[in-house]
Amino acid sequence: MPDQGLKELYIDELKDLYNAENQLVKALPKMAKAASSDELRQGFEKHLEQTKDHVQRLEKIFQALGESPKGKTCKGMQGLIEEGSEATEEDYEGSVMDAALIGAAQRVEHYEIAGYGTVRSMAETLGVDDQVSLLEETLEEEKETDEKLTELAGQINTQANESGNEQQQDEASSRDKKKSRRVA
Ligand code: FE
Repeated sequence: MPDQGLKELYIDELKDLYNAENQLVKALPKMAKAASSDELRQGFEKHLEQTKDHVQRLEKIFQALGESPKGKTCKGMQGLIEEGSEATEEDYEGSVMDAALIGAAQRVEHYEIAGYGTVRSMAETLGVDDQVSLLEETLEEEKETDEKLTELAGQINTQANESGNEQQQDEASSRDKKKSRRVA
């Protein structure tokens, strides 16, 4: 019989999430700083506070299990954060940068939603109801954040598109002016 059962896998998955949440606590202030839209920045700041709660809920679970939360690096989250910071190094401005930040943040949320969905069903099977409720609370907050980001993307993409059109028009009209000067 293998000695690594569902409970060990559950603990392993929780450690991964614990590391992922802690990586996010560090990344979210940078994302907030890079945001132009007040609403988006406040959204990131709010989610930072929620993320600190997510860390605490996981600590509570580890306490109940009598296990240490440390010992894993979540490579998935590392990759997502790395991609997000690559986007902020691109030459995007204003609402176009915001649209890139939203894309990165939603990837993070979907990853977490998958992770919490996984541990929640394991906790259900293992019959640890208090832990199911804690995981469920976090899962709901991740889903709400994702929905909020989808809403914001609707407005911000429109702005990004309009500002792109304006820029093109500006460039076109300054080209026309130059042309007409040359003709005159
Ligand atoms: Fe979280």
